[in-house]
Amino acid sequence: MSTTENTQLSRRRLLQIAGIGTVGAAATAVAGPAVWSSAAPSHKIISRSAWGFAGWQAGGPPRLNKAAITHFVVHYHGATGGGDSGPQVPRSIDRDHKADPKNAGILYNFIITQKGEIFQARGYDYKSGATYGANDFSIGVQLHISGNQKPSAAALASLEWLYRHSHGAMGKKKALKITGHQDHTATACPGGPLGRWVDGRGQELYREMAKKLGGGGGGPTVPAYPGRSAFKIGKKHPAVKTLDQGLIRKGYTKYNDGDGYQAGTLFTEYTRRNVQAFQKAQGWRGKDADGYPGPETWKRLLS
Ligand SMILES: [Zn+2]
Repeated sequence: MSTTENTQLSRRRLLQIAGIGTVGAAATAVAGPAVWSSAAPSHKIISRSAWGFAGWQAGGPPRLNKAAITHFVVHYHGATGGGDSGPQVPRSIDRDHKADPKNAGILYNFIITQKGEIFQARGYDYKSGATYGANDFSIGVQLHISGNQKPSAAALASLEWLYRHSHGAMGKKKALKITGHQDHTATACPGGPLGRWVDGRGQELYREMAKKLGGGGGGPTVPAYPGRSAFKIGKKHPAVKTLDQGLIRKGYTKYNDGDGYQAGTLFTEYTRRNVQAFQKAQGWRGKDADGYPGPETWKRLLS
């Protein structure tokens, strides 16, 4: 199948870019249109035909413009059935999405289950319909968990693999930004533990990829310091979210409301105390550790 050839070529190309070398063909095999097998999933993409996709409606989705894709957007399922696995997962999502006759069918590009299975939905063939406001420049990946469920190690390993794999598969020379649905649309998706993954490990992964691909001017840089006025208790500023992501990445999240520390635009007393803990860890005292980030705190937290 041409799908298999393309995938293997892309995987090799990605490994070349990453300087990792070669890998056995078994690790890159794509499931063919055979009968469903419940064998332990390795990192492979289970094709639409393999999971029994019923076909598009409403004329089918528009083709994906690979050159335009800059973002890898993470979603959760959020509803009942999170934690299910096997081909019934993409089948039931497809049925739900087709309930709207204007939808061509399953809106995501990929679905990942808690077992680590990766199901091709729109894949790299068709444009995402999952992230209102960002579908022109993103692929949408759903981790099949309910809102507060913790993603399994297998699911996260598959998510990381798919992120890396997507660069080769779409011929990307710059790292894809990892964002959550809520970074583009007013939604709670993907809050909870998965949202924290996006803000923490997800950003680290992006920086790793940016470093590997390097040379194209797409490497990570510390964003410009927004000025002290961005950080006032009880006030919102977009830079606070960036600050929070730095705190999460560096592990300074001890102060929170009991539901874990989450990145957001509101500067709270929790934010201030976490920043203060980071400043004290730099050996700073007194006014240098007041919990309000100055340019040096900003630089150290975000580099
Ligand atoms: Zn979502």
